[in-house]
Amino acid sequence: MADSPEPLDFLDLDHLLTDEERAIRDTVRGWVGERVLPGIETWFEVGEFPLEVAKELGGMGLLGMHLTGYGCAGSNAVSYGLACLELEAGDSGFRSFVSVQGSLCMFPIWKFGSEEQKQRWLPPMARGEVIGCFGLTEPDAGSDPGAMRTSARRDGDDWVLSGTKMWITNGSAADLAIVWARSDEGIRGFLVPTETPGFSASDVHHKLSLRASVTSELVLDEVRLPGDAVLPGVTGMKGPLSSLSEARFGIVWGSMGAARACFGSALEYAKTRVQWGKPIGGFQLTQRKLADMVLELNKGTLLALHLGRMKDEGRLLPQHVSMGKLNNVREALEIAREARTILGASGITLEYPVIRHMNNLESVLTYEGTTEIHTLILGEALTGLRAYE
Ligand SMILES: Cc1cc2nc3c(=O)[nH]c(=O)nc-3n(C[C@H](O)[C@H](O)[C@H](O)COP(=O)(O)OP(=O)(O)OC[C@H]3O[C@@H](n4cnc5c(N)ncnc54)[C@H](O)[C@@H]3O)c2cc1C
Repeated sequence: MADSPEPLDFLDLDHLLTDEERAIRDTVRGWVGERVLPGIETWFEVGEFPLEVAKELGGMGLLGMHLTGYGCAGSNAVSYGLACLELEAGDSGFRSFVSVQGSLCMFPIWKFGSEEQKQRWLPPMARGEVIGCFGLTEPDAGSDPGAMRTSARRDGDDWVLSGTKMWITNGSAADLAIVWARSDEGIRGFLVPTETPGFSASDVHHKLSLRASVTSELVLDEVRLPGDAVLPGVTGMKGPLSSLSEARFGIVWGSMGAARACFGSALEYAKTRVQWGKPIGGFQLTQRKLADMVLELNKGTLLALHLGRMKDEGRLLPQHVSMGKLNNVREALEIAREARTILGASGITLEYPVIRHMNNLESVLTYEGTTEIHTLILGEALTGLRAYE
């Protein structure tokens, strides 16, 4: 089999990367092998994220890595994508942590913040010393975040925020919350240090998905902030939506990491599990499953790489990112489900990574725009007709 393609990189996509991109990918892959894989079963089972890794992630330059200046690594988009892929091959909780910190929290400060806000917050966030969360979703405003009720009113020079945010990753772990609220001027973004009186966070329990990730409810009870707590550079939904588009780009890649882990696990199992006197990988139906999995894994990774190159050339539109998120998360979930069947009963335990990834991907399918909403964004792009409102 000397000339057979490498199963986990069937199309030799590695060849399309630069030396620097490969080096970043290898560093993150090595770190995941050392620091995520040995502990992830336990973290998932007990339902916790090991916050002590934040500074290690910062030390590797992975927090806000595609941003420039202020202690950020300034990597290209493809490198950021590769890091997301490798982190999510470990667990979606780790990629989520990096996405929230870098894309949902640091990006809006970097893009819309004042010079003073950038100087104050970005360097410690890049080092993983200050942890951020992004509060957009509310109990009654999910896919339609513009329906938010959280309010920001002026009181002299101050702002006073009131409302509830729901499903917020890193909520109770955060030092700084980026909170989007409705004001007389429209939707504005606020930098809320979580020790501010009136701010509280409580965790969502009993999750069966993204268990190695903190998910919280935020309550803002007349939280008083100085006038300069607002992000000066943006008003309206463009602020949160452009931040979400940055994070979604990471999901396009990350989902393929989860898919690769499931495919790799199922392939190994198929080669060694013997039934009817031969490895189950020798049965045609198993080979069909594996062939379908490797097809979608390679197509999805190629799509991610293409979108990454477009982003680096400044040609990537939000609709392109919607296409990537819609396709890759859907296919990753399908790969995980097929992998689960190959593992038979063993596929339902945490001994193998498959059902953990499968359950995680159910959250990834929903957050940062559901499959339905991204389908309708593509529909609008094609027809010019908006069907989701
Ligand atoms: C683990 C996890 C972490 C999260 N982290 C964050 C975070 O850090 N910050 C944050 O702000 N939010 C976060 N979220 C929230 C997430 O973004 C929302 O769950 C998501 O936007 C969907 O909102 P919803 O759950 O209220 O569903 P809903 O909007 O109520 O949707 C329910 C169903 O209706 C469908 N639907 C809605 N509108 C339409 C339509 N027009 N046409 C067709 N179908 C439609 C949806 O696609 C979905 O299938 C997180 C969620 C999870 C699960």
